[in-house]
Amino acid sequence: MKRICHQCQTEMIKDCKVSVEGDFSGIKITQKRKGMFNSISAKAKASVCPNCGYVAFYIDEFKDFDK
Ligand SMILES: [Zn+2]
Repeated sequence: MKRICHQCQTEMIKDCKVSVEGDFSGIKITQKRKGMFNSISAKAKASVCPNCGYVAFYIDEFKDFDK
């Protein structure tokens, strides 16, 4: 799936690693659930626009998250 920049409609560069300076474990997105498997989590990735520098976060495991 292509990711298009929201600001300038340029195709963005995907799969950039997200980390906080001084902490290389990245950013984790977690959703709480009911029942046995009571949470699901995914590591956030970033896509970067090579034209204007806009950054968007996303996860690959979005289908595992409930609406
Ligand atoms: Zn852009």
